[in-house]
Amino acid sequence: MTGAAQQRPLIGITVNRDYKRSRFWLPDGYCCRIEEAGALPLLIPPMDPSAAGALIGSLQGLLLSGGGDLAPLYYGEDPHPLLDETDPQRDAWEYALAKAALARNLPVFGICRGLQILNILRGGTLIQDLSGTSSMQHLQKGPRTYPSHSVEILPQTRLVEILGEGHIAVNSFHHQAAGAIAPGLKKAAVAPDGVIEALEDPHLPFLIGVQWHPESLQHPASNLLFQAFVNAAAALL
Ligand code: MN
Repeated sequence: MTGAAQQRPLIGITVNRDYKRSRFWLPDGYCCRIEEAGALPLLIPPMDPSAAGALIGSLQGLLLSGGGDLAPLYYGEDPHPLLDETDPQRDAWEYALAKAALARNLPVFGICRGLQILNILRGGTLIQDLSGTSSMQHLQKGPRTYPSHSVEILPQTRLVEILGEGHIAVNSFHHQAAGAIAPGLKKAAVAPDGVIEALEDPHLPFLIGVQWHPESLQHPASNLLFQAFVNAAAALL
């Protein structure tokens, strides 16, 4: 095997922080799926935002993982009574990372909270709590590996090129969702109640956010998404 054949893209993955127990943590599915798709996962904890450019320069892709609520101050709103705990350090770090990644046209895959970061960073807003606007359950009670609601993959999107036309069943662990869509982003999947389930920038090599959790979901679509992301990252090698 030649040296070139051994090269694998390095994908940075953001993590959660548990301040009470002084731990960083992340469900293992993110790393497993990235590795299965042929890339090297690298966990990146929150750091000083000034480090974002240097770190992004070492990566071929950025995966913004799921996690807690984003502080609504970033999109010019006051906190809704049902807003959960927020993490200002993680927010600031992930906005800086995503901004640096977009500046270099690095492939970015946003999952759940990651989709929401991308929408806010580009100028969109969030629905802070879905209970007042949707009669559907988006915070499922079943196991993470099982789907609970359908989404329609919308035509004329990058997502439909990856997943194909029609509906798929997805898992759902969110009480917030994208509100106003940022300029330049496009709705790529929608739930039956109209909640945005995927966003993308069709003009970038790979900028896709999904509101569900493909890293935990046993579905062919999960593999297709991770493979498309890793393929885009591998193109930078
Ligand atoms: Mn959902």
